[in-house]
Amino acid sequence: MNAVKVLEDLKRRFPNEFEYHQAVEEVLSTIEEEYNKHPEFDKANLIERLCIPDRVFQFRVTWMDDRGNIRTNMGYRVQHNNAIGPYKGGIRFHSSVNLSILKFLAFEQTFKNSLTTLPMGGGKGGSDFSPRGKSNAEVMRFVQAFMLELWRHIGPETDVPAGDIGVGGREVGYMFGMYKKLTREFTGTLTGKGQEFGGSLIRPEATGYGNIYFLMEMLKNKGTDLKDKVCLVSGSGNVAQYTAEKVLELGGKVVTMSDSDGYIYDPAGIDREKLNYIMELKNLYRGRIREYAEKYGCKYVEGARPWSEKGDIALPSATQNEINGEDAEKLIANGVIAVSEGANMPSTPEAIRVFQDAKILYAPGKAANAGGVSVSGLEMTQNSIKLSWSSEEVDEKLKSIMKNIHESCVKYGTEDDGYVNYVKGANVAGFMKVAKAMMAQGIL
Ligand code: NDP
Repeated sequence: MNAVKVLEDLKRRFPNEFEYHQAVEEVLSTIEEEYNKHPEFDKANLIERLCIPDRVFQFRVTWMDDRGNIRTNMGYRVQHNNAIGPYKGGIRFHSSVNLSILKFLAFEQTFKNSLTTLPMGGGKGGSDFSPRGKSNAEVMRFVQAFMLELWRHIGPETDVPAGDIGVGGREVGYMFGMYKKLTREFTGTLTGKGQEFGGSLIRPEATGYGNIYFLMEMLKNKGTDLKDKVCLVSGSGNVAQYTAEKVLELGGKVVTMSDSDGYIYDPAGIDREKLNYIMELKNLYRGRIREYAEKYGCKYVEGARPWSEKGDIALPSATQNEINGEDAEKLIANGVIAVSEGANMPSTPEAIRVFQDAKILYAPGKAANAGGVSVSGLEMTQNSIKLSWSSEEVDEKLKSIMKNIHESCVKYGTEDDGYVNYVKGANVAGFMKVAKAMMAQGIL
């Protein structure tokens, strides 16, 4: 494989899909050496078959708002690769959603799911609908209209969606209800469901907890842990909330959280009570993080991200490309020793270079945030066997999966000087399994 040429071809065929190009470039640059050790891969043109999604569905979603206006949004589902299991990956509702973003996420998801060791392929979907400022009834009408199209492309053995940005328990519940009505079947086709109707315990916590379990493995290798470490968290949604919860539980201190309007800096630390306030503010009242600063009298910075604050560990948990090269330089100058990504691709290529040149611990989302989809995989298993496991059982399994992913990264990513390149480790380990499965299944 000539990575430069493969990428040029993709850019020519799919112009203006910048996030998709960025995700592919990162993977190609790290797997090229391993790939070229297997001439049979190139003969089968494996790389193009792995970079281009199996199929993409695009549809119009028509719904009525509370004032009786008829509104339209775009809906998408990208089925990237099902070599090792049914397509699996979240649904994102955000005004920024477009095909490039969903193709990057589905591509990443394929490697992430492979790393978990569970039988799941990669997919992703969503809409440019923004739940922000919408009433509950509007969200429900939109979700029902979205599912009216999506349902024919998904199924328990075909494609199993879950949540992502803008899609939490409420939205998954509405999607599940409509899917069930259309198919007249009660199956585990969506994950992240409510506990009363097939959801797994620990699924809401899984991405944040999993990220911290991964971080702990990295820190352990350096002979340290989270005790008294100051953590910069971005976002204040599902991933950020449970990341903060686990940091607190393990003796660390969280001083920042954010939303798409700005960030708060609380040098005293966001303790359990303050975190409960954030959870209520965001999950029940759907308010803004600014209100935290008003309530607790701390700093709020409008239109900015928290990376210029001083901390030991950065835990980006909001969105893609939220740490650029300049932010990364600031983090290093402020003495950050580890960056572990709860979000997908939050660091730009320049930022990743800064982290790796400084030889700090740097875990890409593909590895560090795989806990969410892992427990989704466990939810699928529980639905199949029609049983549910206790929180302790699921949490134990999650811990052991994160530990295994860490081991795979160390195995494939340790460089000659002993530095662990977690990006390379995650990409090579994820890639090899999918590649072998594709080779075994013939030219498709
Ligand atoms: P939520 O919708 O629950 O929360 C997202 C948070 O990020 C909110 O605080 C939101 O602010 C903020 N945010 C969203 N877009 C932007 C933006 N463009 N700029 C600044 N802030 C933004 O989503 P999740 O917590 O589920 O997802 C967060 C990240 O984690 C995403 O990258 C997602 O792909 C990734 N992830 C999620 C998993 C899961 O299980 N949920 C699994 C693996 C990865 P606001 O409230 O203003 O919208």
